[in-house]
Amino acid sequence: MTDAGDPAAPTPSQVAPGRVDGSRGGDRYNGPMSFPIRAITLDLDDTLWPFAPIGVRIEQTLDAFLREHSPQTAAMFPVDAMRRLRERVFAENAHLLHDLSALRQLTIAHALRESGGDLGLLDAAFDVFYAERNRVEYYPDSLDALARIAARVPVAAVTNGNADLERIGLSHHFAFQLGAREHGAAKPEASIFHAACAQLGCAHGEVLHVGDHVEMDVAGAARAGLRSCWINREARRWEHPELAPDLEFDTLTALADWLDAAPVATPNR
Ligand SMILES: [Mg+2]
Repeated sequence: MTDAGDPAAPTPSQVAPGRVDGSRGGDRYNGPMSFPIRAITLDLDDTLWPFAPIGVRIEQTLDAFLREHSPQTAAMFPVDAMRRLRERVFAENAHLLHDLSALRQLTIAHALRESGGDLGLLDAAFDVFYAERNRVEYYPDSLDALARIAARVPVAAVTNGNADLERIGLSHHFAFQLGAREHGAAKPEASIFHAACAQLGCAHGEVLHVGDHVEMDVAGAARAGLRSCWINREARRWEHPELAPDLEFDTLTALADWLDAAPVATPNR
């Protein structure tokens, strides 16, 4: 766990988005910096659960569905070919990158059409995909830590992915879920962070954004004027040339511990 900033906690208005990580390891460092926050925005994929196993299961489940209901589609687009098609559809539709569900539907429709399959299968195929996408396997610390964090401050999910917290069964911990699809733009765009802050009723500097991704989460939040926390479960090196997280933890439990020790104000609602 490291703190990337000056241990003297600035007020939110003094937070320089993206301070250069020049003070790490300094003589005065004696633990994570403490500062007040009023709410948390939380990334989902690779923060609460790993996405890679979901991605594998999605491919296998869709393949099994097509083998049963549209064998010619499965024959023309086995898992590897379907993955290449998906990458092509994503690349050709950059304007939809904030809407992964639409891109998945486009991919399936393309495969059905090209293989002479029945486009009437599209909804059923997407339902199979989407059910699998919402079957998550949490990191061991996630559920307990999330409950502790949500008991301290309002938590809003801010995600570029298409997970559905209702279907997953986690929505009771969240004030709301803001997805790139609903917002119309994806992290690291400042607008999605600002929309979440507005809905939380908090100033930008009163909100801590927590996530695994250097650019989408930490750099995006810092540029938008939020506090930032990097969840770094795999001991990666911080390599962004200009920006550094306010906080870095290897688990959400460590964040919950930090929050227990931090001054917390109740949001004005
Ligand atoms: Mg993530």
